[in-house]
Amino acid sequence: MLQLNAGLCVRSLSVESECNKCELVCPTTAIAIGESNLPAINFSECVTCGACTAICPSEALTLDEFDATNFFLILLKMMIPFYLVVKMFLVFLLLV
Ligand code: SF4
Ligand code: SF4
Repeated sequence: MLQLNAGLCVRSLSVESECNKCELVCPTTAIAIGESNLPAINFSECVTCGACTAICPSEALTLDEFDATNFFLILLKMMIPFYLVVKMFLVFLLLV
C-alpha cells in the first residue's frame, strides 16, 4: 500500500513549494494535491505502480508492496469503458 510521510513532502517543508510531480506522473489520477496543500491519495484508484514513489524528490511516498490483485482489478475497471466504446463503434460500422 502507498504511504505518504507528509513531514517529508517538500510542500510541508516550504509553503512556497509548488511540487506536484506525484500528481502529474500518476496514471490513474489517484493522487492529487488537496486543500491541505499536500498530496491526497485515493486508494480505490491507486494501482500501486510506484511511479509517484520513483519521481518524488524527497522520498515522501513509499510503497510497501505491489498489490497485483488491486492492480489488475483497477486496470480492468479502466479498460471496460474503452471496450464499450470500441464495441459501439464496431456496431455502428456494421449498421452503416
Ligand atoms: S502508486 Fe501509481 S497509481 Fe498509486 S498514486 Fe502512485 S503513481 Fe498513482
Ligand atoms: S512529489 Fe513528493 S515532494 Fe512533491 S508533492 Fe508529491 S509527495 Fe510532495
